[in-house]
Order: sequence, then C-alpha cells, then structure tokens
Amino acid sequence: MTEFFTVHTPPDARQLFRRHFTPHVRTERIATAAALDRILAEPLHSGQDLPDFPRSTVDGYAVAAADTYGATAGLPAYLNVAGEVAMGRAADLQLTLGEAALVHTGGMIPAGADAVVMVEQTQAIDAGSIEVLKPVAEGENVIQVGEDIRQGDLVLGPGRRLRPQDIGGLVALGITEIAVAVPPRVAILSTGDEVVPPDRSIAPGQIRDINSYTLAALVRRNGGEPITYPIVPDDRAKLEAAAAKAHAEADIVVLSAGSSVSYRDMSVDVIAGLGEPGVLLHGLSVRPGKPTIVAVCDGKPVFGLPGNPVSAMVIFDLVVAPAIRECLGAETVTRSRVEARLARNIASTTGREDYVQVRLEERDGEQWAVPVFGKSNLIYTLVNADGVVQVPLDAGGLRQGDRVTVYLH
Ligand code: AMP
Ligand code: MG
Repeated sequence: MTEFFTVHTPPDARQLFRRHFTPHVRTERIATAAALDRILAEPLHSGQDLPDFPRSTVDGYAVAAADTYGATAGLPAYLNVAGEVAMGRAADLQLTLGEAALVHTGGMIPAGADAVVMVEQTQAIDAGSIEVLKPVAEGENVIQVGEDIRQGDLVLGPGRRLRPQDIGGLVALGITEIAVAVPPRVAILSTGDEVVPPDRSIAPGQIRDINSYTLAALVRRNGGEPITYPIVPDDRAKLEAAAAKAHAEADIVVLSAGSSVSYRDMSVDVIAGLGEPGVLLHGLSVRPGKPTIVAVCDGKPVFGLPGNPVSAMVIFDLVVAPAIRECLGAETVTRSRVEARLARNIASTTGREDYVQVRLEERDGEQWAVPVFGKSNLIYTLVNADGVVQVPLDAGGLRQGDRVTVYLH
C-alpha cells in the first residue's frame, strides 16, 4: 500500500486498477421497450428469418421478370392483372405466364412472381390489364426472405449499449424481454468545510456544492446509479463514518475534494481504512487532476477526486467512468469526437497528460478548437467548452494549426 504522493501515469494507473479489481456484473430482465442506453448482458440470436416472406419495396406490379424483358415505352409488354395482394395478408394468388398482381410497399410477393415493376413504369389499359414500359431484373424491388437477418444469426452481443434502432431490431424479431446489466450504485461524497448545499444562501468564504451534482450527472450518463450523500466537513471522524456507510451501501465510492497532501486533506487516510488492499495510487500525472486517489477496498473501487470542478470532471472520465463500464460489462465505446485544428499553442511537459477544454469554431469551412483558458477552479470554463483535447503523455505540447481530436462533452 502506498501512502505517499507517488505519481502514476494514466496507463500505469489503469493496469494497477485492473490487477486489483474484478467486476461482477449483476443482471436483470426488463422489457426491451424500456432498455434504451442499458447494457445487454446476454447474446441474442434471431429465432426467425427477417422478413419471413418476400416483400415489395415499392408500389407496383409483381411480375415474372422474364415477362418484361425487352419492354420499352414504344413496345411495351402487355400483362393481365390477376388481382391485388392485400397488405397484412398472405398473397393467395399464383401467377402464370403473362400475369401481374397489384402490390403495395411491404406487401407479399405472390407465387410465380420474382420482381416488381414500379407503378410509374406502367400504364393501365383497362381494369384487367397493364402495359409495362421498362424491363425489371429478377429480384428487382424485392426484399428476399432472410435478407434483413437470418434465423440463428447473432443479433446483438453482451456489452452492447442499446440504441433506439437496436430496440427496433429486437422487437422486429419478437424479442420483447432481455437481460441487461444492473447499474452499479455509485456513492458520491462531497467534502469540505466551505461547501454548502446549493439551495442555501452562502456566507463569505463559502461556496455552493458543484461536484455532487456534476458527478451524479456523469454517473448517470455513464450508466451508473448515483447515490448522493450529505456534504461532510473536514473532520476525520465524520468523514470516516460517512465513507464507511457509503462503502457498505454502494458498489463504487467517489469522494470529492480533500484528496491532496495538506494536513486538511484526509481522504487518503480515510480510504486506506476502508479495506484491503486499500490505496493503489495517490497522484496521477494529469493536468488538471494530479491529486487523485485510486483504491480498491474489500473488492469495491474507491476514488478520491480533486475538489476543483474542472479536475473532478477530467478525472471522473479517466478513472471512474471506466470502472462503471467494467461493472456493467460494457464494451468500450469511443467517445463522440470531431477532428479540428488547434487555434493556439498549448504548453505541456513530457510525462504528463494534459486535458484542455476547447470551444469549436468554424472558420472558412474548417473546424477550429479554441482553448477556453482560465484559472483551474472555474466551472464556466467547462460550461463554455464543447469538448476536450488531450495532450499525450509523451508530447511536450501542441502547436497552433496542429490537427487534434476533440472529445465532445
Ligand atoms: P480540495 O481538493 O479540497 O483541495 O479543493 C480544491 C478546490 O475545489 C477548493 O477551492 C474547493 O473549495 C473546491 N471544491 C471542493 N469541493 C467542491 C465542490 N463540491 N463543489 C465545488 N467546488 C469544490
Ligand atoms: Mg478541501
């Protein structure tokens, strides 16, 4: 166990954390209709071909393609209309040579037909016959049986975060109930004598609690269930009691503030007392966010985040969000991002990752990432930012005009 401020790089921190934390994914069965953004916890196979009957993709006439070969506006093919395929019904017609059937988009292709002529390519002669003005190829304007998905195919695998179209794809196959991961409970504990709830008026020297709220929102956005605890003053006994309660009730514990090394910063000692192996690292080579604590206590991840709201958010993305994903068994998804050119030089030093908040601006048809500078404790640098640019560990900085990836907020 390390009790000193020994700085680790983010890759080292990830490795260390993985060595000591084994996630257990809990699952529950829920209605597919209610599963938006949930993480699938089972492989799903199709029990049928989709579609399970051949369907027309247009309004027109189902035909045998061979009956239309060589047809032109000047020399059309004449076909007898044997009937109409009703929507939602099996086509009970059997076409023979020289026959066509009226079909609508999504309707079943009758036996004897293998293509559909769009209605725009036909001319009605009378109630019982049409002229076809252009040939169709076999299979034209037809969705074949199993063309969407085949019976037995793997539809979606475990770890998938379900999107609106995934829900549509599942209900199309009659899969109306699925196993998903239970969101891990993430305890959020803001600490600090100066921090007061936001619905209170503040006395000089006090500030309203920002982190409980941004962290809870981040937990929810990452698929966890936040549990917010009352603000704890900088009092060792009170912090110990609150942390022990949070550790007992939640799957992951996040302490905000008090994570540094001054005599007022008690997070590291309190976390060390929560269980084995305890504190894995104290200090991350990241700016902003160096005073970070990563711990595993009796099988549960515990994080000490810096109180500065900008740092807290950067460090949440780096260490807490991946832990939530692991508890969900979720696939790693790359964050939404855009490419842009950097509007100003950014200084850094090798051996440290920097995260710079940027606004996106379009100039002459090109996206530019404009750093939102400000002292480190300004929540509105985050509010005004569209995303964040990372200066890699091994880079001494970035130059104006460089192409950069902006990870969107
Ligand atoms: P600390 O990590 O305790 O050194 O705090 C760093 C800075 O973050 C200090 O200026 C704190 O006042 C501020 N801070 C601590 N907790 C919060 C919070 N919950 N919301 C907003 N700012 C905070
Ligand atoms: Mg403090």
